[in-house]
Amino acid sequence: MPGLLLKIRRDNAYIHIQFESLVVRCGIDKGIEAFMALVSSKTLPNMGFSILLYLLSMAVYSEAGDYVRPLPRPITPIPSTTTTDMDAEQVHISLVGSDRMRVTWVTKEDVPSMVEYGKSPGKYTSSAFGELASSYSYVFYRSGYIHNVVIGPLEANTVYYYRCGGHGPDYNLKTPPSQLPIFFSIAGDLGQTDWTKSTLQHIQKSSHDVFLMPGDLSYADNQQPLWDSFGRLVEPLASSRPWMVTEGNHEVETILILMEHAFRSYNARWQMPYKESGSTSNLYYSFEVAGVHVVMLGSYAKYGTNSDQYKWLQGDLARVDRVRTPWLFVLLHAPWYNTNTAHEGEGEKMRIAMEPLLYAAKVDIVFAGHVHAYERFTRVYNNKADPCGPIYVTIGDGGNREGLASEFKKPQSELSLFREASFGHGELGIYNATHTHWSWHRNQDDESVVSDEIWINSLSTSTNSCQKLQESPTSYDGEL
Ligand code: FE
Ligand code: MN
Repeated sequence: MPGLLLKIRRDNAYIHIQFESLVVRCGIDKGIEAFMALVSSKTLPNMGFSILLYLLSMAVYSEAGDYVRPLPRPITPIPSTTTTDMDAEQVHISLVGSDRMRVTWVTKEDVPSMVEYGKSPGKYTSSAFGELASSYSYVFYRSGYIHNVVIGPLEANTVYYYRCGGHGPDYNLKTPPSQLPIFFSIAGDLGQTDWTKSTLQHIQKSSHDVFLMPGDLSYADNQQPLWDSFGRLVEPLASSRPWMVTEGNHEVETILILMEHAFRSYNARWQMPYKESGSTSNLYYSFEVAGVHVVMLGSYAKYGTNSDQYKWLQGDLARVDRVRTPWLFVLLHAPWYNTNTAHEGEGEKMRIAMEPLLYAAKVDIVFAGHVHAYERFTRVYNNKADPCGPIYVTIGDGGNREGLASEFKKPQSELSLFREASFGHGELGIYNATHTHWSWHRNQDDESVVSDEIWINSLSTSTNSCQKLQESPTSYDGEL
């Protein structure tokens, strides 16, 4: 662990982060001492600086064994940089059916909703038009024009270049493969802090085909310009790979009397393929890509056995063909299984209503956000380890301004196999019909470090016995 500090860069930002960590590790007094040492060491030659940091790190780490939680960071809004009011910004894409993509963007002026695209940079051989751009108001705020255009049919696993509204820069995207393997990246509760930036950088470096997001996107929390800022922050990633999202509580944004419509901004800006999956609400839908069926549930839509969402889920799961899609994943915001003291029991009513449906369908993994920490459970059904139940993962650690949920209940439930309150993201590699690799990458002082990983076998290939409970091999020797 001392090696960590030797990687230090001498820019102020890094020293600041280091200082925060030191304070958490050693208490405020030693932290200030350490900070003074760091500041005065700026006058030392490089060698002296490194030795000082090394000694400091030895002293610090000898006091604290484990990785120590960093403090939250504030929101850092991203201003608009478009040159004209017709230029696109906040560009993001999402999957529509097997070979189409929805392109969403915002302009200040009302320009045609048109996307030109092709397989070479700047050479657009096709174009598509969308419906009239929409715009919404929220108390005194009026949004820009929000455009949605579906392009395709597109070839699988292919890079396309595109331009929005006939103006502005050339963007590019890569379509996902049509067959396994396929790679997902997952992080919930992103927000827009320096931690978020760090998480996004790690996700960008991972070779993912699709990004999955279990809710709590912008943390705008009624301050609508922060939705625009979030759109700009995520654009480099979200314009190049499909972002499939579902809503969290921070998307609700109602204000007593003034704003009674929930999800106004979220639904306007993050339209998902709900109609295409037979849903009547943007708050829950499903999609299929390569050999995977993904159900995005809505923790903040009605879920009781008489609700539209429940009936839709029943129908959707009945249509899943595990030969066509051997893998079945579910995402939702408020976790059904959680041993953190944060948000304890909030997902319980939904679990009681819907868990039997997921169990009967042999869902492989359920991903949740909401709790700002990472936790992985064994296969569970109805609060008991069950070889035919889904694995539950909480991945609400994207990096928002609220910070981490550091308090876990003790003693640790035997259903909970790994839990840690750190920022990070997950990577899910579906190698073939039977084997998936899951890894959780902690943002360790802004570096991405694999901290939990397992191989998972699909429940679709198992018959009556389902899977052995303790399946957590560290390696897989079969053919991939
Ligand atoms: Fe959250
Ligand atoms: Mn939440």
